[in-house]
Amino acid sequence: MSAAQMAIKTILTLPDPVLRKTAKPVERVDADLRRLMDDMLLTMYDAPGIGLAAPQIGVLRRLIVMDPAKDDEPKTPLVMVNPEILDRSDEMRTHEEGCLSIPDFTAEIERPAKTRVAYIDREGKKQEAEFEGIWSTLVQHEIDHLNGVLFIDYLSRLKRDMVVRKFTKQKRAGAL
Ligand SMILES: [Zn+2]
Repeated sequence: MSAAQMAIKTILTLPDPVLRKTAKPVERVDADLRRLMDDMLLTMYDAPGIGLAAPQIGVLRRLIVMDPAKDDEPKTPLVMVNPEILDRSDEMRTHEEGCLSIPDFTAEIERPAKTRVAYIDREGKKQEAEFEGIWSTLVQHEIDHLNGVLFIDYLSRLKRDMVVRKFTKQKRAGAL
């Protein structure tokens, strides 16, 4: 597909209510869905970010794209349709997370260090894979988006409310 046919989508930000909805399963992997995957990857790289879930661009479908490669590293895009966490390790890892829907805010979040995930790939084939390190954090963060969960939900209520209030005020002031 030529770059001209691809489109950078608008990323919804806090406190957009769509970010709190549960996404529906994708029924089939077809040309339209692959176009959506390409648009999501383009939008993610453009932002720039390392992960994006379909609800973040207002599409309530279970689809995520990820690539934690650094700027000077070769790209390693991974697309998952209907991802499902099968298993999580007891061992935890902490990572300073951010989110394209919560710009300019990061926080240290603890999540299982290893995650086993079943998903459907770009070709429509069933896959199963185990992730660790940044990939484990990333896949959990993105799957959370499909269930209306944001990383700030792992913070104390006080801290989370502060973040939400800041974004609500900014939006009301027309700053976003
Ligand atoms: Zn996010």
